[in-house]
Amino acid sequence: MREVKNYIDGEWTEGKSETIERYNPADQTELVAIVVGSSVHDVDEAVFAAVKAKKKWAQTAAPERGAYLQKVAHLFEQYADELAELATKEMGKRFVETKGEVYRSAAILRYYAGEGLRRVGEVLPSFDAKNLFFTKRVPVGVVAVIAPWNFPLAIPIWKIAPALVYGNTVVFKPALEASATGARIVELFAEAGLPSGVLNFVVGRGSTIGDAIVEHKNVDAITFTGSNAIGSEIAKKAAARGAKYQLELGGKNPAIVLKDANIEFAARLVVEGAMKQTGQRCTATSRVFVEKEIIDVFRAHVMEQVKRIRVGNGMDEQVTMGPVVSKRQFETVQRYIHIGTQEGRLLIGGGASDDVGWYIEPTVFDSVSHRSIIATEEIFGPVLSIVEAASIDEAIEMANDSIYGLSASLFTNDVSKALYFIEHIEAGMVQVNGETGGAEPQAPFGGMKQSSSGTREQGQAAIEFFTAYQTISIRPHPNM
Ligand code: NAD
Ligand code: MN
Repeated sequence: MREVKNYIDGEWTEGKSETIERYNPADQTELVAIVVGSSVHDVDEAVFAAVKAKKKWAQTAAPERGAYLQKVAHLFEQYADELAELATKEMGKRFVETKGEVYRSAAILRYYAGEGLRRVGEVLPSFDAKNLFFTKRVPVGVVAVIAPWNFPLAIPIWKIAPALVYGNTVVFKPALEASATGARIVELFAEAGLPSGVLNFVVGRGSTIGDAIVEHKNVDAITFTGSNAIGSEIAKKAAARGAKYQLELGGKNPAIVLKDANIEFAARLVVEGAMKQTGQRCTATSRVFVEKEIIDVFRAHVMEQVKRIRVGNGMDEQVTMGPVVSKRQFETVQRYIHIGTQEGRLLIGGGASDDVGWYIEPTVFDSVSHRSIIATEEIFGPVLSIVEAASIDEAIEMANDSIYGLSASLFTNDVSKALYFIEHIEAGMVQVNGETGGAEPQAPFGGMKQSSSGTREQGQAAIEFFTAYQTISIRPHPNM
């Protein structure tokens, strides 16, 4: 059990709000963390510390800033098992998944450490031939990092690492369900010797301290990943006071399986896309459009794949799907399953048990209309809907009939159809013969339509959010 406190200006301090007990979603008898929640006053102190540290950090050489990230990457690997176990016990996803996330986080840290050595501007031609005319990327200032619980390691890292290497100071607020993991991340930055005030940490309920962070006049930019409901509120508040914001929100990601595809392979990847991490990924596959000629065969393969899934505690190596994160999520997913039984045909799953933890069976619905509730709203659980399509055009049309546009997959062996899909699908992340999930540190990540707002995260695209341009012209003395 860990007591989770704030980290402000290099000190672990107790928040001045309620104390919240957090239990393992896989085993509710295990107390994982006691979170000492923050008050609005604590937020103010954290922002003040970040403001105070801003100038010196911005003036630190970028390669030196990157060197801290290298050290943290090394510490992630050194403590890989411990970090993964903590994350698994705190939010339920399987140990192999959290361990993978630890290594992915290390890769992200190294990528951004390298950014400390890359160019931060360009020389431009000028209408005045003697003018030295150039651009320079400068830090935005104090960045608020507001993260969800579903990637408790990688998401905070893919926000904090670029924020720091480009010279910003940070106030990091994890999701309540990922507080202990968040605190451990911050400890590793401290262990790497990051100067006080550069990375500050406040824990607590978003409803208590969220507004204080978002509306703070000294917070220059907000990078947020989470739900659309909260994201759109943040956008309004940030826009009202002229702060920069970046939102990564929900998805309702489609896969399309054409009749020429390798059907067994497609079924395996669709089920993996839907059920991996208990469906709690913004890029999870939640709708699959299948050409009618192959739908019976596809359905049979899906059933076979789903039957293989073993639900249980994510620390158990035999288990292939962990619990959902919380009672609230447990109830939400069950509500959608209930709706699904009225809107379609329950093919497999549908059961749930809260005796030990928040366990839900992998669930597939069939004969679903693409406009039904379960096929339009984000469920964020292990639920997949199969929808019949008459053709690739109808499948793409139904796939695009969504407020979301995060990721999409096509299964085909026909390159012309793949190119056609790429041209017509409204999704930020596009996969051909791959599952809808997946991101790599060097590539921009994000969606279209209501799935994202602002510039992209990850890769070099991150520089757009975490820096501002200075356009500079230097003219020689008139006599020279
Ligand atoms: P959430 O919106 O409930 O919470 C996200 C964060 O916002 C948490 O830290 C929370 O404490 C904080 N918050 C809550 N109220 C706030 C307020 N009023 N002001 C400021 N901050 C506040 O999301 P969640 O339940 O943690 O995560 C699930 C959601 O995240 C899903 O919708 C999922 O699709 C989305 N998600 C998106 C991506 C992506 O990259 N597009 C990745 C992961 C998760
Ligand atoms: Mn939530």
